[in-house]
Amino acid sequence: MIDLHGRNINKLRISLTEVCNMACTYCVSSLSDHQRLPDELKAEQMLSLVRMLKEHAGIEKVRLTGGEPLLYPNLIPIVSGIREMGIKSIGMTTNGQLLARKAKALVDAGLKNVNLSLDSLDPVNFKRMGRVGKLHKTLEGIEACLKYGLSVKVNMVVIKGENDDEIVKMLEYGVAHGVEVRYLELMGMGPLHNNDEDLLVSMEEMLERISTKYDVQPVSAEADSTSQRYWVPGGYFGIIPNNSAPFCSTCSRLRLTSNGQLIGCLSNPEAISVRHLLEHDDPADALQKLVKKSVSYKQDVAFTGSSLVMSRVGG
Ligand code: SAM
Repeated sequence: MIDLHGRNINKLRISLTEVCNMACTYCVSSLSDHQRLPDELKAEQMLSLVRMLKEHAGIEKVRLTGGEPLLYPNLIPIVSGIREMGIKSIGMTTNGQLLARKAKALVDAGLKNVNLSLDSLDPVNFKRMGRVGKLHKTLEGIEACLKYGLSVKVNMVVIKGENDDEIVKMLEYGVAHGVEVRYLELMGMGPLHNNDEDLLVSMEEMLERISTKYDVQPVSAEADSTSQRYWVPGGYFGIIPNNSAPFCSTCSRLRLTSNGQLIGCLSNPEAISVRHLLEHDDPADALQKLVKKSVSYKQDVAFTGSSLVMSRVGG
């Protein structure tokens, strides 16, 4: 679907479940904030909505996230179901705690790429920032993905005074393992809504830290990519500059919550339910109207912060 600003909205990000097995301090106030919604969609319902969005709203690429997608009971049938409807680009964003033993089955089902959230390479700091979870499990998850041929990126949310001293160390880990590290500027969402300024590390600061040790050269990225890409000797890294250089004008994403609501924009918590369309024999017109409305909530200039919790919208 092409919106009024000429953006081709063809990527769908699905929060399969709001449950998570970590409770990152910048995402939620406590682990109990992650609750499975009582009306969470079953796999076949979720697949029906994805099929509708593919057939009637131009969705071509899907990313599975959450909450923690690996906690969704029918993750493998979801991946194979999406592949069987002809969607070739299927990715997942995960904390990787449960990934090592599921990586092979996910590849066989059709998963193509994984974004692993990894905020620290120090076990104590990892636990402090995530409250729950173990560093070695995420690292084993990354190794399993590489072993089975998945394309892997590491996402690190950089926070002043918490992990900004690990920026270079994370880059060196990425280069050594052949995975692209992407540094995320912190977003003022959920518990950080209107409360993130002192914690923010800007793209400029990140580049400065890396440039003191390595030669850094900008390279091109896909037109609708959220990240700015750079070359360093031995590899590449990216920065997702949510605040310093907003990418709203090229945003091609639509979000679907675990209970079947569309969210068009991270800055706008307005959700539009489409689950009732599961009962329609011919949902095309109604779906297109609702997608259009959801997309109309998109900002065209900059992310403005939101009370939305990331696990609802999947990051
Ligand atoms: N549980 C999975 C994971 O940890 O990757 C998927 C869900 S998580 C909400 C998706 C992404 O959102 C993660 O990479 C996480 O770091 C990012 N995220 C959450 N809150 C954020 C914030 N306030 N600013 C920037 N990124 C955030």
